[in-house]
Amino acid sequence: MSNLTGLFQTPINTYSPSSFGEVLEIVRTAHISKQTLYPFSTGLNLGYGSRSPVISGCSLVDLSKMNRILNADKISLNNPIAVIEPGVTQAQLADFLTKNCPQLTFNVTGAGRDTSILGNALDRGVGYFGPRKDDVFGLEIVMGTGEVIQTGFRRLGEQSPLAHCHPYGLGPIIDGIFFQGNFGIVTSACFRLIPRRPKEVAVSMALRDVSHLADFIDELARLKRDGLLTSVTHIGNKARTQSTLAYGVTRYLETECGYTPEKALAEADRAISIVAPDEWASLAAVTGNAGQVRAAIREIKQRISRYARVMVITETLLDVGYAVTHALRFIPFARANAAAIHSIRPLHALALGIPTDVAIDNLLWKYGRSDLPAKALDESNCGLLFVNPALPLDGKAVVKVIDELEIVAASHQHKLYMTLNIETPTSMVAVINLLFDRSQPEEVERAHRCADDMLACIRRHGLEPYRARADMMKDIVQDNEYWRTIRKLKDVFDPDNIIAPGRYNLAD
Ligand SMILES: Cc1cc2nc3c(=O)[nH]c(=O)nc-3n(C[C@H](O)[C@H](O)[C@H](O)COP(=O)(O)OP(=O)(O)OC[C@H]3O[C@@H](n4cnc5c(N)ncnc54)[C@H](O)[C@@H]3O)c2cc1C
Repeated sequence: MSNLTGLFQTPINTYSPSSFGEVLEIVRTAHISKQTLYPFSTGLNLGYGSRSPVISGCSLVDLSKMNRILNADKISLNNPIAVIEPGVTQAQLADFLTKNCPQLTFNVTGAGRDTSILGNALDRGVGYFGPRKDDVFGLEIVMGTGEVIQTGFRRLGEQSPLAHCHPYGLGPIIDGIFFQGNFGIVTSACFRLIPRRPKEVAVSMALRDVSHLADFIDELARLKRDGLLTSVTHIGNKARTQSTLAYGVTRYLETECGYTPEKALAEADRAISIVAPDEWASLAAVTGNAGQVRAAIREIKQRISRYARVMVITETLLDVGYAVTHALRFIPFARANAAAIHSIRPLHALALGIPTDVAIDNLLWKYGRSDLPAKALDESNCGLLFVNPALPLDGKAVVKVIDELEIVAASHQHKLYMTLNIETPTSMVAVINLLFDRSQPEEVERAHRCADDMLACIRRHGLEPYRARADMMKDIVQDNEYWRTIRKLKDVFDPDNIIAPGRYNLAD
């Protein structure tokens, strides 16, 4: 099933290989029989098509059983690289590091604990510290021909001292074509781990006056370029921030204040408008040694305070803040703050490399299925479409697009839920999610029309999405020089077009 709805076609077959050798066998057999294959790592590409192939008639290759950390005994602070198979999940790697090398963490995404590292990176997902693609190199790929290639210096063999440490190798770097590509099945890769810094704090910056949004974005961009904000800077609109808080706040009111679900729901809106009243609010991390963090915070405050209220969030602040506000929860203001701290706590942990299911639990709760585990979102009625434009780091240009996207959303009776993520020193991406009830055909249709109109809007501004849903491929991949060249590459790696036909490539 897919939460895009209507997209999923019954697969011809589902293979669940548990080793490289089995993948090789599957591809070689498919190559002979011309059976098309659609590989995925954990298949939780929620909002992008989950495990749905782009065109019908594919057999699925579910790689989740290939979940070994191949160099587990060699990972250390001096060797911060994990060689992982596609089925390794965020939770698995986080647990492994906690147990075996707690000085290391990694670039965690806000998707659930059971999502993969590699599948996410291969679709060019974005984690708390930046694009996952930048953390991955040394890929091992079974190509559509049934041949095997290793990129970078992994081609020298696993025993070479360069195999797992040098990200580029010698000669043309071909790693890039396997990200958002359909040239083969990636069976393992090197994944960069991150040494923990002595001090890690979050900085929340709430925009005071919405008419300064463009200047606010530009200043945040400068802070990122100057290396003062060390994570991705997330800038959420009010709808997004309030929606993120809803589940945790309501749960706090039910479990800690003894409210009935109805009363908790009614009070949650009031509490959220007390703690998150701002049209736009931003969150980023500052990491370093104590002196570096202190100096960075001083400069951030100096530069951003004219636009935003700045708050530095530390674990201690959350502990003390919660203890005090929770004790005073009979006062509405304190209760609202205690509920908010309760709600943001797991999100704050993302910065520490601890993955969480709360974002998906939030959706399950909205659609009345809190009984389901996060990985079963597709079994609920929650429909989800992501529309994700890549954006220049130019406040004025970005505000123009946002204004128009708001009009498009409203014309389809949708609220614009939007986060702007400053992910590189020169560009950012927006994440917009459209939610709908999949059991209501009218809602499904309306959400898809809205997504189509948003794509048209983005393009009117000369922009494109940075990541595409399976159902968008036909609009994204066009018959022009760029995509024709990509198709020619397919003839080298997979001449019979058996791997994920139509995925970020011309279908035939
Ligand atoms: C509430 C919520 C929050 C989210 N937050 C984030 C976030 O913070 N960041 C983010 O990036 N995404 C986010 N997502 C989107 C999505 O859930 C994640 O990107 C998730 O990690 C993708 O699923 P997966 O890891 O199972 O990848 P998969 O579904 O396994 O892989 C994605 C695609 O990559 C290709 N692929 C995967 N593995 C291979 C392979 N071994 N060989 C060849 N091709 C392969 C396939 O085409 C596959 O469809 C979020 C979704 C929701 C609902």
